[in-house]
Amino acid sequence: MYQSLKLSKEPSLSQHSSQAVRPLPLTKSMPSASASDTSFSAGSVFDYANEAIIITDAENRVVDVNPAFCELTGFSLEQVKGKTPEAFSILPLKDRRGKRQKGEEVMLRDRSKSQVSYRCHDGHFYPGMMSVNRVRDAMGNVHHHVIVLADLSAIPAHARHLSRDIYFDALTGLPNLQLLTQLIQESMLHAEKNHMPLAICALDIDHFENINVRLGQSVGDTLLASFAQRISHLLFGDDVLARVGGDEFVLLLHQGVDEDFFNQLLELIRQPLMIDGQSVHLTASLGVTFYPHDHVQGDVLLRHANQAMYRAKQRGRDTFHFFDPAHDRMLQVRHEQRQCFIDALAHDEMCLYYQPQIDMRSGNVVGLEALIRWQHPTRGLLSPAQFLPIIDTTSLEVDLGEWVIEQALRQLAAWHVQGIALPISVNISPTHLLVSNFSQRLDELLRQHPDVPPAMLKLEVLESAAMHDVQAALQNMSRCQALGVSFAIDDFGTGFSSLTHLRQLPVSLIKIDQSFVRDMLIDQDDMAIVESVIYMANRFKRPMMAEGVETLEHAKALMALGCELAQGYGIARPMPARVVPDWLASWPVRREWRSLGHALH
Ligand code: C2E
Ligand code: MG
Ligand code: MG
Repeated sequence: MYQSLKLSKEPSLSQHSSQAVRPLPLTKSMPSASASDTSFSAGSVFDYANEAIIITDAENRVVDVNPAFCELTGFSLEQVKGKTPEAFSILPLKDRRGKRQKGEEVMLRDRSKSQVSYRCHDGHFYPGMMSVNRVRDAMGNVHHHVIVLADLSAIPAHARHLSRDIYFDALTGLPNLQLLTQLIQESMLHAEKNHMPLAICALDIDHFENINVRLGQSVGDTLLASFAQRISHLLFGDDVLARVGGDEFVLLLHQGVDEDFFNQLLELIRQPLMIDGQSVHLTASLGVTFYPHDHVQGDVLLRHANQAMYRAKQRGRDTFHFFDPAHDRMLQVRHEQRQCFIDALAHDEMCLYYQPQIDMRSGNVVGLEALIRWQHPTRGLLSPAQFLPIIDTTSLEVDLGEWVIEQALRQLAAWHVQGIALPISVNISPTHLLVSNFSQRLDELLRQHPDVPPAMLKLEVLESAAMHDVQAALQNMSRCQALGVSFAIDDFGTGFSSLTHLRQLPVSLIKIDQSFVRDMLIDQDDMAIVESVIYMANRFKRPMMAEGVETLEHAKALMALGCELAQGYGIARPMPARVVPDWLASWPVRREWRSLGHALH
């Protein structure tokens, strides 16, 4: 009978071919196996195997069964010959392979494993595990199938029943989340032992809820079962397919899969499924992480795969996304840092330092800029550059901004009582400036401090912030101006404002960025920028202030160019609020700075 399958020679057991035709290791005229016979026939495996083996032809019709099969089921070869395995086994889900399209057939992996109920001669059903290995010829055509039916009935019925309910999904017969959790542990060990990466792939059918609504729950169930069956054909060796939720599946893949594999998987999923005579088109989103590259616990691996799957959904579905552990760690660190920042804000670890601003012509102090500091319990006093990037473009910038305004207003009230009447400038981040209720919140905060005139509060906004969304910035700034609060453009010269926009913005001060001021005496380009900014500010009739004035020489040069307001280490470094009164008292003693106006004439 095997001649009909055009079998050639008897191979030894060590010969393994994967896709090309593997000659059927069967012969009826085998020598009996003996321990000393190293070249024993592979056919003996067929005859002496404990597991039932069924050979079917290309159309999946039985051509031979081994003695273990006859013993297990009570069927003789003659009773099953020419029939498909469905004649004596029931898959937990309906196998619709026969209806599959030709192109799809080619795409399928050639090995599958599924739990079945098999029927014995006496008509009773027993639990089994059926492994199907499809064998192809050199042209890639299906040549025959080798099916191994393992008996699971040795497991006591009640235990089997129990564990079935606990570990297997009733609809598809696939491992459920409970079993998957254990299988992931085993797969991780397997991957480590064999130095082969393990891919954990979370798969979610796109818009499956629509299918349930459109076609009904029962069609939905059939569809899921067929879908599971189709995907299970991609499994290889120890690979696992589990159903972990309604339309959520997880694949554990051991064979070093790559992008091609997932493209192929998506392509397979796109092939229409025939359900009750209608063709249903599905797509799915896949999220994949690789162990041990992603070196975390099993449950975290699953979470990472799911995270990646959600990214695939966000990217438009019907695609896959690989989880990036390095990026994730960075996000994790960011998240923890933000949490620390939130705690710090709540536990009064933030504080404001104040840096005086002077009019160089008169020598008078004209205001103070409030600068945020973090008095960190272990790292000491942190400057804004060390923590503001953590909250960049998040809503925490709004929380911080409101806290700073609130503190500045309190400070103004406190100084007012002490007879200090100097305005405070507060830095406002771009994100904060552009929130729609900015002026409303500012109004509320001002109302909470009725003893502070709004003109005592000044807001510094970065040039780039105002330019980001000019209309929104303009609107918010105008509303604040109506409340009596004025604006300064900070770090001027570092952004790329168009002059038209600059003209539009309601600002009463332009602050020349300290980076140009610092080197203006030694760098001609910086000097040119400072000159241009001063020229421009004068043309627009806007007062200007130089930041980063570190020496008297800077001050003199700036005054010669027409800039009269200054702030910098040469005048004073930022200081805690409590030392401001003493500094103000000592300022008149700094004669060389106070007499700059006279020096000019
Ligand atoms: P900024 O608003 O341009 O503030 C001036 C910065 O220059 C301050 O740094 C100040 O200490 C520093 N500085 C002043 N004079 C000199 C000088 O002569 N030489 C040098 N080398 N530096 C000088 P700080 O306090 O580290 O603040 C850095 C930036 O952080 C600020 O730049 C501002 O953009 C931001 N910032 C500070 N406080 C806040 C805040 O409360 N909210 C927001 N959103 N940003 C803030
Ligand atoms: Mg500033
Ligand atoms: Mg600045």
